[in-house]
Amino acid sequence: MQLVHTISELRRCHDHARANAHRVGLVPTMGFLHAGHRSLMEAARAENDLVTVTVFVNPLQFGPNEDLDAYPRDLDGDLALAADAGVDVVFAPAVAEMYPGGAVATSVRVSGLADQLEGASRPGHFDGVATVVAKLFSIAGACRAYFGEKDYQQLQIVTRMAADLSIPVDVVPCPTVREPSGLALSSRNSYLNDEQREAAAVLKRALDTAAGAVAEGGERDPAVVEGLMARIVGQEALAKLDYARVVHAATLEAVNPLAGRLRLLIAARIGPARLIDNVGATVPT
Ligand code: AMP
Repeated sequence: MQLVHTISELRRCHDHARANAHRVGLVPTMGFLHAGHRSLMEAARAENDLVTVTVFVNPLQFGPNEDLDAYPRDLDGDLALAADAGVDVVFAPAVAEMYPGGAVATSVRVSGLADQLEGASRPGHFDGVATVVAKLFSIAGACRAYFGEKDYQQLQIVTRMAADLSIPVDVVPCPTVREPSGLALSSRNSYLNDEQREAAAVLKRALDTAAGAVAEGGERDPAVVEGLMARIVGQEALAKLDYARVVHAATLEAVNPLAGRLRLLIAARIGPARLIDNVGATVPT
């Protein structure tokens, strides 16, 4: 496995692979890799000849009061996990390599999709995400890029951005990997103590109960479904709900009465961590 720190080296490596008719798979991450990231690497490994994982904690997507400095980092651990997953290249650029001079004047904004849910709670977050992913796609060139449904809104935004800008990257969605309790794996789970980690399982319980009310219970009123999720999260003393929403799975817009392909999404603070999770539900037509 090769560790690459510069944009020009990664470009050379991918150009060389494509010149030999090798398919390139890209797995963008912020590092502190876990089994969720590993499932993306395995999907990329199964479908491509050269697999690159990027490890970059992107300052652009953190708000002024967010956890940029505290965000967990462990490049040695990341290299070991990536090597074990059969990755070929790890691209770990310094901030100065990605943002020479410390800033970019160009920002990518996916309007509509980026405005609600996480976008409303974390202003500017998705502009930072779309901008760095546009840069990574530009550096990587034509490839397949693997993203987790765990960050569902991000997945929709990145997919739309690549389509809108005619970037030759196929975005491949991958299912969320969870602990046995239902808690979605996340680098930010490292902020939780045992009691908080147990409490954090409430997100998936609330999502499953609400998805069941829609798919099996026949509930069609979004306010009832959202109220149900809020009530279940509210029963967990250590959880502080940010939002609980049910929206159209592709546009992320409100649907009333509930119909078609839906996505239920929750954000909540548990102790020092702000956690997000989501599940799908379909109303049969
Ligand atoms: P992050 O390092 O948190 O920015 O995540 C990098 C990629 O891994 C994103 O596409 C995430 O959606 C994905 N990811 C993170 N956690 C999980 C998980 N539990 N299951 C599947 N994919 C995940």
